[in-house]
Amino acid sequence: MDKTDIKSLDLGELKELLAGMGEKPFRAGQIYTWLHRRFVTSFEEMTDISKNLREALKRDCELTALKKMQMQQSRQDGTRKYLFALKDGNMIESVFMHYRHGDSVCISSQAGCRMGCRFCASTLDGLVRNLTPAEMLDQIYRIQADTGERISNVVVMGTGEPLDNYDNLLKFIRLLTDENGLHISQRNITVSTCGIVPNMRKLASEKLQITLALSLHASSQEKRRALMPVANKYGIQEVIEACRDYFEETGRRITFEYALVGGVNDSQRDAQELAQLIRGLNCHVNLIPVNPIKERDFVQSDAPVIQNFKNVLEKYGINVTIRREMGRDIDGACGQLRKRYAEKGGGKGMRTFSITDKGRIRRMNQDFVFSSEEPVGNLPNLFIVADGMGGHNAGDYASRRAVEVMVREIRESRAVEPPAIFEQAIRSANQELLARAREDVRLEGMGTTAVLASLADRKLWVANVGDSRLYVVNEDMTQVTVDHSLVEELVRMGKIEEAEAREHPDKNLITRAIGASEEVTADVFEVDVKEGDFILLCSDGLTNMLKDEEIQSIVRSQKNVREKVEELVADADANGGKDNITAILIEPY
Ligand code: SF4
Repeated sequence: MDKTDIKSLDLGELKELLAGMGEKPFRAGQIYTWLHRRFVTSFEEMTDISKNLREALKRDCELTALKKMQMQQSRQDGTRKYLFALKDGNMIESVFMHYRHGDSVCISSQAGCRMGCRFCASTLDGLVRNLTPAEMLDQIYRIQADTGERISNVVVMGTGEPLDNYDNLLKFIRLLTDENGLHISQRNITVSTCGIVPNMRKLASEKLQITLALSLHASSQEKRRALMPVANKYGIQEVIEACRDYFEETGRRITFEYALVGGVNDSQRDAQELAQLIRGLNCHVNLIPVNPIKERDFVQSDAPVIQNFKNVLEKYGINVTIRREMGRDIDGACGQLRKRYAEKGGGKGMRTFSITDKGRIRRMNQDFVFSSEEPVGNLPNLFIVADGMGGHNAGDYASRRAVEVMVREIRESRAVEPPAIFEQAIRSANQELLARAREDVRLEGMGTTAVLASLADRKLWVANVGDSRLYVVNEDMTQVTVDHSLVEELVRMGKIEEAEAREHPDKNLITRAIGASEEVTADVFEVDVKEGDFILLCSDGLTNMLKDEEIQSIVRSQKNVREKVEELVADADANGGKDNITAILIEPY
């Protein structure tokens, strides 16, 4: 039996569901509040509901909660573009835009689209499926949670043709505007359509106060047909008539979206024809400089051409704006982020496991580990091993505090390139440790080594300071990071052989660390990860106790990732365990 999609139910339907479970109606109100006011992502969080009822809900219902896969933030205007995974693994995009008049979210209504508009990246692989009301709502809920901002405007203009998913769209609007939920005003909702005439008329009869935006994009039937296959079914005159009737029925001014494509629909003549076409209609024209997409050879109109087009329309008394180009430095056009993700083999996962252990001899653990397969800020995942220095307490404090600061900085960073994100985080941790050491004499001389890594689309980004290490293990075992130690310097200067380095008495004299001096420099590496590669981050407590061949044999064994890490740490411990031991193993698949 299919589970009930609980977030797509209105309050009345939720009451019916709970009555069927032998529950009192007020329970429905409580659950509705958890879902649509507190935006919970699991039944466990509904703390004023009995355990039995939560268990019953878990058994009979599914709770839609989208998974954030990527977020790109524009350095120019703070626009954020999100890639969310649906429960079946399909990907959708949503955009958060900050305007003076309030924060706005543009959501997708379908995974893919079957309308085939020639300038649009969302339709290149066709329609996959309709989104449920819960999946549309949750784009807004997750973005609110991520940004901490209250969303006041919603635009249904992302991937998909909303009127091709009519019933779910209507349900979504009712839930979104419900006074017991997010309670967004209908007037703050815009639904775009490429012109599915019967559903435009149906929508008019609902007499909602939402704005209807028609993607017009051409001033003649011939040109529209060339850009938008939907015009073969519903001609341009028929669509304009439906717009006139929409205004008559609802009293709501129509918005015409017009994507200007260089040399295709941006001439003065096009502007004059458009003015004639929409003459007398209570409307607003939104001119959109088209976003170039690499699969189609469309180019953007030049700025003077766009201005000229606007001037012509205004001469006819038409209300016109040129859409502000939000987030052009990120994958701006709708569908591009999703497409790029799919092309790069994104969606493939990883198995990871980490342990940090104080070893046999040390009284306390001066290592610190952070491991997240989930996105942290603009990074799709994040792994850190830090090895503190400066004796008990100070070394322990240094590694933990440095990791806390780095994770916080990465979470808040507006940078998009991993090297810049890492370097900024390391600098902040360095300043923090220095400041703390100045305040408290017990912390004087503390510092930490650290290795940071993030895996994006089979590209591994690594930064390191000191001698915490990262290896790629396959048929070979390659150390990616550079150890900043006295011994390493001696090897570089040719004074000792590489083979001697491991046994050298000064092997633990670190020459570069976070917290050691006013300036800190990190080495940053970019590594291509191949099929079958494992990634091992560790402190020298592991590599000092195990030979490369021993590590390789455990990592390449048939065991699962957890068992491998447990064995690595147990063997290092058994071999003496003089130091703290930390290991994170990543198995991309
Ligand atoms: S512009 Fe909209 S309707 Fe046209 S293909 Fe793209 S998503 Fe579909």
